[in-house]
Amino acid sequence: MNAKPTSKTFLLLADISGYTHFMRESPVASSHARQVIIRLLKALIGASAPPLTVAELEGDAVFFYATTSGDDLDRIAFQIKEQMLSLFASFYAETRKLAEMKACECDACSNVGGLKLKQILHVGDVAIERVNQFTKLFGVDVILIHKLLKNSVPSNEYVLMTGQAHTVITDFHGLTPRILREKVEEFGTVKVVVFYPIHPSSMVRANESPKPTTTDTLTWSCRLKWNTILVLMSRDLKPVRLNTHSMKKRGKQREGSS
Ligand SMILES: [Zn+2]
Repeated sequence: MNAKPTSKTFLLLADISGYTHFMRESPVASSHARQVIIRLLKALIGASAPPLTVAELEGDAVFFYATTSGDDLDRIAFQIKEQMLSLFASFYAETRKLAEMKACECDACSNVGGLKLKQILHVGDVAIERVNQFTKLFGVDVILIHKLLKNSVPSNEYVLMTGQAHTVITDFHGLTPRILREKVEEFGTVKVVVFYPIHPSSMVRANESPKPTTTDTLTWSCRLKWNTILVLMSRDLKPVRLNTHSMKKRGKQREGSS
């Protein structure tokens, strides 16, 4: 009798890079960078479909997973490979749209074209538990994929698969694989396979990147302006509170001296 294949779970991290330094710059650029990231995270989630499921939003990254029953590993692997292409396409379509709208000239908005996407894929053993309304993934393989976010790949735009994932996925749309060995804390040396998309923006087909309409541009412009107002108000309110405090203090001093 054949033993039933062990069920494995695919883990995928889609991580946006290029905006961290804007988060430390001016409050307005930081606020706009946050709005851009929210839009891009939504685009990534919108581009995903079963079997991929969102596990968590983690800063500038979306953590996806896809379960298998053991017999359907190859079929799910094929679907995930296609989905990863869709994630690239959707991400670059959205950055292109944001750049074309030219709704703001702050550092964050002007550099939206410089944002990149990397995707890290692993397959392993995962325990999936419900915590109230949330789904939580547990296991050393979950820890490993997160540790692989820090790696020696000299780029912000690539697909990185663990050796286990590459064995199942086998190739990535005809791109040349580069085999690396990463030193990962607590895991030792881990074999990974990296693919560099040649021109990721060329993955965006014309029908996936429609020109922004006037309504799109106006809506986005209003959103950015509203966030600018919130930033300016929060800065202006601080002196008001200080003045109120110092006025009360001065009042008490006057009462004390009279
Ligand atoms: Zn801006």
